[in-house]
Amino acid sequence: MKESDIRPQDLFNRYLDLVRRDNETLFADRTGFIDIECPACGGSQIGRRFEKDGFEYRECADCFSLYQSPRPDEATLARFYHEAESVKFWGTEFYRQTAEARREKLFKPRARDIAALANRHLNATGEARFCDIGAGYGTLLEEVAATGRFAAVTGVEPAPNLAALCRDKGFEIIEATAETLPANAPRADVLTAFEVIEHVPSPLAFLKGLKRLMTNGGIALLTTLTADGFDIQTLWQHSKAVHPPHHINLLSVAGYRRLIERAGLACVEIATPGKLDVDIVGNTLKENPEIEVTPFIRRLVTESDPETREAFQAFLADHLLSSHIRILVSID
Ligand SMILES: [Zn+2]
Repeated sequence: MKESDIRPQDLFNRYLDLVRRDNETLFADRTGFIDIECPACGGSQIGRRFEKDGFEYRECADCFSLYQSPRPDEATLARFYHEAESVKFWGTEFYRQTAEARREKLFKPRARDIAALANRHLNATGEARFCDIGAGYGTLLEEVAATGRFAAVTGVEPAPNLAALCRDKGFEIIEATAETLPANAPRADVLTAFEVIEHVPSPLAFLKGLKRLMTNGGIALLTTLTADGFDIQTLWQHSKAVHPPHHINLLSVAGYRRLIERAGLACVEIATPGKLDVDIVGNTLKENPEIEVTPFIRRLVTESDPETREAFQAFLADHLLSSHIRILVSID
């Protein structure tokens, strides 16, 4: 898989331009921004810090998580997701142009992964219930339903128009966020949250919400970005993964372990099966040659032969050094 398969560069750059414009208009007044401690471990010691598009990012000196602080409060962030042009663009044009590629390259493999997890971790007898947090357009729900593994396929989605769209496809949807679930929300045996936790105001509150939705013996699968990844460590503030105010929590592997513990969950498995770090760094350096990296890295990612790059990517994936992280948790 290549970066361009799931996010064509022109389209993604137009999206990033809109994000920058949204930041200028919707966050002109930053007096309401709040200072936070490390969202992973709660530590207050800061290692490195940098600014991007006027937002400050800090690295936790204890667990090396990268996070935006000060950051907009919950209400301001919610308004951003409601009004921003970049969010609309992602939900309409970007989605339309990439929907089929994403279905094939992302959602079908995810659905197969989910069915396999259910087979491995759940009791074989009894009817299992699946729930996706941030159900969006319901593409994953459709693909999970198609596996036939679950008696019920449901979702949690805060945006009213997307929730309605999923309901039209026949899925049961709770219109909320994981943090604002109604007390009577039905629990699920397999929960997923793909690329959600990097966006939320409080990862701890998010995981506690997730825990309230889990059955005893159930599992939850999260994917997100980790600051430990090659592309983030190499490109740092130039990394497209670091884009405020969308990606505000880029925790380290150690940070995720601490966070899971603090939420009262047990870590079943952590892996970084990313395939794109080398491609992403190569593309970014070609686009923007003045970014400073060592000559070794530049040659490795832009000039080495494809087998070398593939082998290096495989090494990153195998050693928790890709920025795409996959986390499986259960109730402690
Ligand atoms: Zn920390």
